[in-house]
Amino acid sequence: MAITDRHAATGVQTFDSVSPATGEKVGTFPVDGPEQVAAAVSRACQAARWWAGLGFAGRRRRLLAFKGLLARRGEELCDLIHLENGKPHDDAFIEVLLVTEHLDWAAHKAARALRPRRVAPTLLARNHSARVEYQPLGVVGVIGPWNYPLFTPLGSISYALAAGNAVVFKPSEHTPAVGRWLADAFAEVVPEQPVLQVVTGFGATGDALCRAGVDKLSFTGSAATGRKVMAACAERLTPVLLELGGKDAMIVDDDADLDAAARAAVWGGIANAGQTCIGIERVYAVDPIYDRFVEKVVQRAAKLRAGPGPDADLGPITVPGQLEVIRRHLDDALARGARALVGGAGAVHPPYVEPVVLVDVPEDALVMVEETFGPVLPVVRVHDADEALARANAGSYGLGGAVFGRRRATRLARALRAGMISVNSVQTFALVPGLPFGGVGESGFGRVHGEQGLRELSSAKALVRQRVRLPFDLTSFERPDRAVDALARLTRLRHAGGRRR
Ligand code: NAD
Repeated sequence: MAITDRHAATGVQTFDSVSPATGEKVGTFPVDGPEQVAAAVSRACQAARWWAGLGFAGRRRRLLAFKGLLARRGEELCDLIHLENGKPHDDAFIEVLLVTEHLDWAAHKAARALRPRRVAPTLLARNHSARVEYQPLGVVGVIGPWNYPLFTPLGSISYALAAGNAVVFKPSEHTPAVGRWLADAFAEVVPEQPVLQVVTGFGATGDALCRAGVDKLSFTGSAATGRKVMAACAERLTPVLLELGGKDAMIVDDDADLDAAARAAVWGGIANAGQTCIGIERVYAVDPIYDRFVEKVVQRAAKLRAGPGPDADLGPITVPGQLEVIRRHLDDALARGARALVGGAGAVHPPYVEPVVLVDVPEDALVMVEETFGPVLPVVRVHDADEALARANAGSYGLGGAVFGRRRATRLARALRAGMISVNSVQTFALVPGLPFGGVGESGFGRVHGEQGLRELSSAKALVRQRVRLPFDLTSFERPDRAVDALARLTRLRHAGGRRR
């Protein structure tokens, strides 16, 4: 991906988006600089006031119309995702399926999740009524990755819009056509104001958005870029929400349904050619079931093939540079004594990587500690579930994870250091719009989806209103000394004993 041209008439630099499978040109897009980004944010400020003024009902109607359009034109959208990102058509369809569910949920639930709520005052302000209101932030900047070019950015965009904000979206330079399609489709159902705009370009365009004075920046991408985004946003104290990478673990306990666990491990680790932030990148299976489990994983993974067609099991690796990362992780693991039961050193044949199942992988191999983002599944033998837990929690990431088992499964799920866990399934938390989505540690902070996602993209406002006047006012220079004495006695009575009220 490189700057390809400077438009003769306008002087605007452009770049081409190309299919990772065929090299075919998908489209040409402007490289938007600070000026264009600032102009988009300024238009968005005005649009935000209009959008907020529509209220929940007005926004719900329009967001549901947008959802309807996505559902009706899903095929066209899947074709574009397949072309630009490379993933098989069915995987693209899963994105469409997810975003329509999430949009529907956000549109319907925003009014309830963000309704003003009464709060009971304590003794000091009993004569007041108190409430918290959730107001739109204004303009939310969204920066997205390429691996789920629809589902991931809409995880922020749908909830930001439902909460009453306008959005300026910077899609990945590898999937700008999907971003542009989205903004154009939204403008068809909301033609009045530029409530959802797209700016295109590389990292510098994203950096300009961080510095453009948006009211919040929601970033999804790698931890390395997340650090830069946070530093850039710090300049104007722009609040950030960071959805970063992961190294998700699956634990398979001795009482697990091994067929279900193997199915889930293969899907979780290999679907989308492993290019999934919540992909399973490590499996810890306990000794008594290890051999049987590995056999079932191998049977399934060995049947999968990578290829160019819309019906292949795996598409290409979307970003050429990622092929080197996957190759490095594989070579490192094999050099340290790991064995490949499926695939092997020759699995990487650009732009594809065939599925790989590794065993006997040392715990400090690159493939166990860094995000591989490829269809490589290390399956590690552990003594028991507690050892699995300790190893799973040793990494720096903490995005998602899965546990297969019965007796100890819920305890293990609670103890796993991650933002989201599925028990006896994989990645299912993403199918539940009401659940918050996000991680801990190097996987970032803040949440999209669910009520938390709506509130994350709102501003909580505290309001108190005096109901009854008291003989003296605590927040006044005119309060009598005896009032302070009385309050001091009351404080000792209420709190000095240490008992809870
Ligand atoms: P990336 O960090 O390379 O790029 C993400 C976006 O940031 C792109 O749009 C890019 O142009 C932009 N960018 C680059 N430099 C920037 C800068 N200095 N300032 C502002 N923006 C900048 O990530 P990627 O390769 O596109 O995506 C893959 C990563 O995203 C993986 O680590 C994956 O795990 C993660 N991811 C996380 C989630 C999640 O929800 N937690 C979802 C999908 C992907």
